[in-house]
Amino acid sequence: MKIGCTCGATITDTGERLPTKAHVISDVDWLSLLDSIDEAIEEPSSADKDAACRRVRGLMRRLTRLAWQCAACGVLFVDNAEAELQRFVPGDEGVDRRLFRGAPSNQDPTQR
Ligand SMILES: [Zn+2]
Repeated sequence: MKIGCTCGATITDTGERLPTKAHVISDVDWLSLLDSIDEAIEEPSSADKDAACRRVRGLMRRLTRLAWQCAACGVLFVDNAEAELQRFVPGDEGVDRRLFRGAPSNQDPTQR
């Protein structure tokens, strides 16, 4: 998938661990996800734990929305609940253009 930004840059969504892409979960859904993870951890048998882990992954896929940031201009593109791309323009030029670069321990050393 490619997103054409209004600045002329192209956001490419191929591969994994993309520093320009995020999976967003609403705060409304956050506690449900944490509860589901807790239940998976607390399952006594490995068969039940496997089923609980599949439920967590399914819940995460259902609750997350995708978002991308243009590294050139900082514009955000976020899917709404209907998976329709919404565009958000930064309020000033000084906006961080690497919002989704990940935690320091997960970053590619060449991208820091
Ligand atoms: Zn752009």
